Amino acid sequence: MADVDAVIVGAGFAGLYMLHRARALGLSARVFEAGDGVGGTWYWNRYPGARCDVESMEYSYSFSDELQQQWKWTERYASQPEILQYINHVADRFDLRRDIQLETRVTAAVYDEAAHEWNVQTDRGDRMSARFCVMATGCLSAAQVPRFDGLERFAGARYHTGSWPHAGVDFTGQQVGIIGTGSSAIQSIPIIARQAAHLFVFQRTPNFSIPARNGPLDAEHERWMKANYAEYRRRARESRTGLLVERNDVSALDVTPEEREREYEARWRRGGLGFAATYVDLLTNQEANDTAAEFFRAKIRALVRDAAVAATLTPRHYPIATKRLCVDTDYYDTFNRDNVTLIDLRTMPIAAITPRGLRTSEAEYALDSLVFATGFDAMTGALLAIDIRGRGGRTLREKWSAGPKTYLGLAVAGFPNLFTITGPGSPSVLSNMIVSIEQHVDWIAECITHLRAHGRAAIEATVEAEEEWVAHVNMVGDFTLYPRANSWYMGANIPGKPRVFLPYVGGVGVYRRKCDEVAARDYEGFALTG
Ligand code: FAD
Ligand code: NAP
Repeated sequence: MADVDAVIVGAGFAGLYMLHRARALGLSARVFEAGDGVGGTWYWNRYPGARCDVESMEYSYSFSDELQQQWKWTERYASQPEILQYINHVADRFDLRRDIQLETRVTAAVYDEAAHEWNVQTDRGDRMSARFCVMATGCLSAAQVPRFDGLERFAGARYHTGSWPHAGVDFTGQQVGIIGTGSSAIQSIPIIARQAAHLFVFQRTPNFSIPARNGPLDAEHERWMKANYAEYRRRARESRTGLLVERNDVSALDVTPEEREREYEARWRRGGLGFAATYVDLLTNQEANDTAAEFFRAKIRALVRDAAVAATLTPRHYPIATKRLCVDTDYYDTFNRDNVTLIDLRTMPIAAITPRGLRTSEAEYALDSLVFATGFDAMTGALLAIDIRGRGGRTLREKWSAGPKTYLGLAVAGFPNLFTITGPGSPSVLSNMIVSIEQHVDWIAECITHLRAHGRAAIEATVEAEEEWVAHVNMVGDFTLYPRANSWYMGANIPGKPRVFLPYVGGVGVYRRKCDEVAARDYEGFALTG
């Protein structure tokens, strides 16, 4: 007899909802969480300016109507503190804390074939057996600090955006360096620049960024959403990205340049991620994509006074939106400040971190603080950090050495009763992630119900179904422009990581139907045993 029915690893949005659903099924469950609080992403990423770029009324759980009716968001896009407050409210409201063990990192999970159980070990010496092991470890939870020469010798303060001090950081009067210009950097740079004596921005690849146009939540919009939540959520679940954005179903090339400009301008003024849906082929046709990229380039030239700085900030070598489109408040304008210097690492690569600061091939910069906004070992990093061993003692690391293989991003052949919430091969990071998380958790809960109803001990993806799914994920990915960018979607930000398009780009609605069909066909592509 296992110690618990389910071990759940991680207490972010995914782990918390999984625990709630497991309880409702009458399962005993234990959540292990490395942090000393719940919240996952929103617990760790406390850097200045951290906020959601999916609107707050949408970036929230839909499983409880009372919760969504009663909770009051204050802004169009919720800030990190507000989302963290929300998650803590959920943990209390549904009495989740009593099954969550904080400050405990799962180090190993080993499958015992004879007993049909997972044996889970933690860095605190816990050992727990469980029938099911659910990895709610997060797609963007393994922070990466590149191995720069001399890193350990830096005498100043070092920070990573993804593990920011809880007390906050006061940069007043300091010479600050920030490495990276992805979403995290783009949110924090304007705020750090207002505080620091001088900010040096070390950029390897410029990004496309659109204004957020954040502000207080519109009361009329809130009323409308709350009156129509059920229908709105239903449509979001069926949509491409789990977000209801206005989609044009025509090609960017089928309208006149003037019409295109008007449409792009209207979306730029509205702000936010909806821009990528302006035309149906922006992510599949290079020529169409160029029209949007050129619109952004002109905006950067207009917003940044120094032409050389504007040129350095202008992305040229990859299609727009094939690296995550960034959403900002005053990002480009920040480079008009006298106390901000942009350093182009393409022409002046980092040679070393020195005790005083940072040295490029051209100059040394004296720094009091150095911020790593260098991102994450996305989608696979947190999973592969755990020593996961399936049937025959085979490790997940071995199995995924050439890139992850999953069935539906939910399960892995050779690893029975192990589920990965928003795993590689599912829409996950290409969607409003709460929609994808709820879908996976609901699917897993129904799967466990089915196993119990049919007296089955174990479920395992078949190799054939997995191969077919991986081929499909690649085929659909190759149909898009995504593989043309060196993005974290492609694993390109981690030296040595296999170059594979990690998420499934077929769309949230299509994917949901596929998962539902699999379940309806008695878990087609899975073997049910025991
Ligand atoms: P996480 O929130 O990452 O939680 C995983 C938890 O697992 C973490 O707390 C971690 O400590 C824990 N964990 C991992 N490994 C172990 C282990 N071995 N043992 C114990 N615990 C472990 N998504 C959107 O849809 N819209 C957005 O606007 C958006 N903004 C984002 C902004 C930032 C700065 C980042 C980093 C991500 C953002 N995301 C956004 C993605 C975000 O990660 C998801 O929306 C969502 O919060 C993921 O929830 P999760 O529970 O799956 O994972
Ligand atoms: P990221 O997008 O991966 O950006 C990391 C940055 O660090 C990139 O500019 C990268 O340059 C740079 N970098 C990495 N290694 C480097 C090296 N060795 N030398 C120099 N530069 C290096 O990470 P992130 O900004 O933390 O964002 C990750 C994801 O989290 C986002 O894409 C998004 O999904 C989510 N997020 C969302 C929001 C939001 O607005 N809601 C905010 C933050 C994060 P290259 O591009 O050249 O690799």
